[in-house]
Amino acid sequence: MKSKADLHLHTNLSDGLSSPKEIINAAVKAGINVIAITDHNTIKPARITKELALKQKAPLEIIIGEEIFTIQGELIGLFLKNKIAHSLEVFKTAEKIKAQGGLAIIPHLKRLFHGYSLGFKEVTELNKRQLIDGLEIYNFWDHNFLLAAGRAKANKKWQLAMIGSSDSHHAMTVGKVYTNFPGKNADDLKKALVERKTLAVNRANFLDHCLIETGHLIELLKRKKSPGPDKQIVKVGSRERLNHMIKLLKE
Ligand SMILES: [Zn+2]
Repeated sequence: MKSKADLHLHTNLSDGLSSPKEIINAAVKAGINVIAITDHNTIKPARITKELALKQKAPLEIIIGEEIFTIQGELIGLFLKNKIAHSLEVFKTAEKIKAQGGLAIIPHLKRLFHGYSLGFKEVTELNKRQLIDGLEIYNFWDHNFLLAAGRAKANKKWQLAMIGSSDSHHAMTVGKVYTNFPGKNADDLKKALVERKTLAVNRANFLDHCLIETGHLIELLKRKKSPGPDKQIVKVGSRERLNHMIKLLKE
């Protein structure tokens, strides 16, 4: 049996636009069996979403996750028990994820916009130290289809679990990009990630991208008016961001 997981989702308790309830409903509607809530530098929204899904007996499982800001770029922790501190070295962050039995996933590798991304060098080093488990081959927000090809090529060497994630900041994109895994629940998924038996799937089309870019614009305007209740987002200065982008381009 094959099931679907969307392992990179944001709620309006962080910088997303949709509530935990809307995310749960959208995932069920999209036929997703397991989701991970990965709000920025906090696991509270994931806990809230998990409790809600249990309460409303939703036919899907919620993994406690966190998208953590590190000095070198963002890293996702899945199956977490405790919050991981942000703004550390990426190696330290990955160690902390593994120390609590979690899995470390590389989100949007080498992407220049929308987020703060790691580069090939860090991933090679993380992999050498056996500190990472999965790599997003597809991320809904990728601005350039060549990114996925580059990641897949590099992953031939790394042999990380292949992941597709919607990185949804709005319920309408949940499940547009997802991960296929053998089994049916979060335990099966964890096993499949460790054994590198997952598959990344991208079902997003051009219209979806137009919609999300519009949604993002609305989000930015909305955030300007009233920032989310959980202010855990790390702001990166424009000079720092530019230097980071140049570093990624030079690789
Ligand atoms: Zn994200």
